[in-house]
Amino acid sequence: MPMKSFSTLPLSAELIQVVQELGYEKMTPIQAESIPVLLAGRDLIGQSKTGSGKTAAFTLPILQKISKQFSDQNLNLQRDTTLRALVLCPTRELCTQVVREIRKLGRKHIGLQVLMLSGGTPLGPQVYAIEKGVHIVVGTPGRVLDHLKKRTLNLASVNTLVLDEADRMLDMGFHDEMEAILREVPEERQTLFFSATFPKTIETMSKLYQKDAVRVTIEEEETAPAIDQFYCEVPARQGTTYDFTDKLKALLWLLGNYEPGSTIVFCNFKAVVVELTHALKRLGISADGLQGDLEQSDRDSVMAKFRNKSIRVMVATDVAARGIDVEDLDLVVNFELPQKTDVYTHRIGRTGRAGKKGLAVSVIIPKEKVKLTEIEQHTHVSIPSIELDNLDDTSVDDLKNELRFESKMSTLFVAGGRKNKMRPGDLLGALTGEAGGLKGSDIGKIEIHDFFSYVAVAKPFAHTALTRLQEGRIKGRRFRIEMAR
Ligand code: AMP
Repeated sequence: MPMKSFSTLPLSAELIQVVQELGYEKMTPIQAESIPVLLAGRDLIGQSKTGSGKTAAFTLPILQKISKQFSDQNLNLQRDTTLRALVLCPTRELCTQVVREIRKLGRKHIGLQVLMLSGGTPLGPQVYAIEKGVHIVVGTPGRVLDHLKKRTLNLASVNTLVLDEADRMLDMGFHDEMEAILREVPEERQTLFFSATFPKTIETMSKLYQKDAVRVTIEEEETAPAIDQFYCEVPARQGTTYDFTDKLKALLWLLGNYEPGSTIVFCNFKAVVVELTHALKRLGISADGLQGDLEQSDRDSVMAKFRNKSIRVMVATDVAARGIDVEDLDLVVNFELPQKTDVYTHRIGRTGRAGKKGLAVSVIIPKEKVKLTEIEQHTHVSIPSIELDNLDDTSVDDLKNELRFESKMSTLFVAGGRKNKMRPGDLLGALTGEAGGLKGSDIGKIEIHDFFSYVAVAKPFAHTALTRLQEGRIKGRRFRIEMAR
């Protein structure tokens, strides 16, 4: 489906203008499917994920409805603060994000009042804010129900009700609160359910509380990929740049915290690759670097070792990493944030394959947040921050001491390949046969190239394997065999 621009929608000129100012050029799939349905006044049950643009999908119709009601009745948003819409979200963080997006989109609605009612903050100021008047409430089910019970909030004028991340609210045990709130909103209303999944409870609630709801599902590949993205901040030093040790500590922290099997760390410059690789190796971390100045044979060796898990961390530039295909990469770290969004997307797209959930973390200095926001807007994905434990008071050695980051495998280089009619079975046979004496389970990936091969062997047996192969024969011949560099 070709993506349409917002100007094809029957939205007010102000809303179209805001959307343009925010740089939303095309509608996301969930927006293209649901906004027309919502503008037509229908109920909706939509499948959506965070980052799909669903907040704007329900906010634009709410704002459109509010401005229409007010202009029809000659009302002024600044003077009349009738509560029109209620949005329920599972968590405080999500409420904050939704409020932010509503305020952004509602910035031409002079006098628009959006209020967040979530737990974790005192009731008093919330009650005061409700009394002052509010058009849209965004809240968690628990706190909203508290206000209803205390009669500090009245939903009698609400005509749009949104249940955002309904499945998560149910997972969090909010079922009774949700139903109690649904019953407090007048029958004459538009009811919207957004959910990533549709468990039976949601189907039942939809039948009970929605009228003839239109169902919108978005094809899997059109939504955000299965990659969790985060960033973490290190301080800027000398005003503009970062300190290498700060980022090294952040990286060590990430490795210790997530214990990824295979990680690629991207740098923007060759020199940083070299420096970081040295630093990691010196700390005893199973790492190697890939950058454009390496000889082809060294590149082959590094890649083979990374693929067969003899190396757990690969440090690379974008150019050098081109063409690496690793099926199960657990973590991608941007040691330096790339300049272009498509480079970012390409880097992180290396994780989250083969049906596994991927993880990508960017280590940035504060001013790079702007760049990251740009990436979020281009990719329709939100990139939250992870708080690193106070790393200023922690030394590289402290972090290193907590980290066990060796690999389980070693790699042997065999100077014979496809052109020598070498096949994986020949190498496996030589290693596990009478002469080799190893178990099949101690042998890892065997990679045959044209003129050479790589064999991964469980580390404790690597030296035995090496001497036995050197002393014995493969296909009745002797080949030069050594530990891969
Ligand atoms: P959401 O899924 O609602 O959390 O939105 C994810 C991000 O995408 C937010 O930062 C929005 O500001 C942004 N966004 C929403 N719709 C669009 C669009 N049509 N074009 C570009 N960015 C958008």
